[in-house]
Amino acid sequence: MTARVLVVDDILANLRLLEAKLNAEYYEVALAQSGPEALQQAARWTPDVILLDVMMPGMDGYEVCRRLKDNGQTAHIPVVMITALVDPAERVRGLEAGADDFLSKPVDDATLFARLRALLRTKQVQDAWRLRAETARDLGFEPPPVPAASVAGARALLVSEDMVEAETLRRALAADGLEVTICVDAIDTWDALSEGGYDLAVLSLSMPGGDALRLASRLRAQATTRDLPVLLVADASQKSQVLRGFDLGANDHVLRPVDPNELRARARNQIRRKHYQETLRADLDRSLEMAVTDALTGLRNRRYAVRHLEGLLRTAGAAVLMMDVDRFKSVNDTYGHASGDIVLKEVADRLKSSLRAADVVARFGGEEFVVAMAGQEAEDAAVVAERLRLAVSAKPIEVEGGEPLKVTISCGVAAVPPGVSLDALLGAADAALYRAKGNGRNRVEIGDVGQSRAAQ
Ligand SMILES: [Mg+2]
Repeated sequence: MTARVLVVDDILANLRLLEAKLNAEYYEVALAQSGPEALQQAARWTPDVILLDVMMPGMDGYEVCRRLKDNGQTAHIPVVMITALVDPAERVRGLEAGADDFLSKPVDDATLFARLRALLRTKQVQDAWRLRAETARDLGFEPPPVPAASVAGARALLVSEDMVEAETLRRALAADGLEVTICVDAIDTWDALSEGGYDLAVLSLSMPGGDALRLASRLRAQATTRDLPVLLVADASQKSQVLRGFDLGANDHVLRPVDPNELRARARNQIRRKHYQETLRADLDRSLEMAVTDALTGLRNRRYAVRHLEGLLRTAGAAVLMMDVDRFKSVNDTYGHASGDIVLKEVADRLKSSLRAADVVARFGGEEFVVAMAGQEAEDAAVVAERLRLAVSAKPIEVEGGEPLKVTISCGVAAVPPGVSLDALLGAADAALYRAKGNGRNRVEIGDVGQSRAAQ
């Protein structure tokens, strides 16, 4: 995995050392020797990860991190702080400024690269969602709301065999309002996970036989738990297992003796990231739904109907019912557009409730509706059309400020085998609709695709 790494340190020798290590692993590297320079580079060069020295004259690493996280353009870039300080309070300060992790000087190569791989893997997934959300925004959809900073009410799964440790960790997380479920082994854990709804898994490496790592890797492999953040709890002597854990899919770790503030800060960061990702995803679903839905009637729109028909014509062949509300202009002229809208909505509802779920009904424009059905004969489609015609005319439609309106539709039907063009199919249905209007309205006519093509 190649990636762009911005290295920030006030001492040139430190920069050169990290640059050499990163280059040897084929990372692209940029260097910054001060806080302001780092902010500038981050905005301009858009790195995938930032390695940030804590102690710098002028603007220190905490301040740089806070500013990066406050800027929408750089907030999503993971930050690893590099420090000679080992005081847990300093680590918490950095985590609260938005840092993803800490490495201590001198930087251990294996740890550095395992951390980078894990952070980049997470960022890749998030970037894919961000990109899709941006596309939706370019199409005119509102950006998603910023997820709440609070993690109260989030659910954590805590897997540990050591009941004393489990209880200590549970209490630390509960102080942030997390609901914690404790599991003692893998079987227990899968039972709990099958219910779903977890925001974080905390796996204790006290489990013998590498069970915690096997669990971490299984969590990643399964679609239902793939996005669940995994935080490892380990002894300093378990370094090689932690590094292996990162490669298997763990997102973060905390070392024993566990500092409760550090655990909470790390848990919060992981949960917030997950919530952010979920917001992006939900927003995308909503945008996609809006992009293919007619706002007035809630039916599919023309864009969707055309795509759907093109798909049917490639595979099964298709029948089309093209329907038009009779004398709709006079409804608008006599009763106003609000009443016109009521009529369109009611017609849409009646069409929809008279069709099978597999048939697509769309508002094609104005007072025109289209039903697309897979691989039907024209005669069978005409039977459906007749049913729809009756459903619309069966009962007058109530509008404001007048007598209930007797509303009818005319319908043209056409059907074609696979391979015929959409233009030919729609042309034939349209010609049949025109004939239905000419023959007195409130009726169904079947179109001839060959004829309509010959006429074109
Ligand atoms: Mg320094």
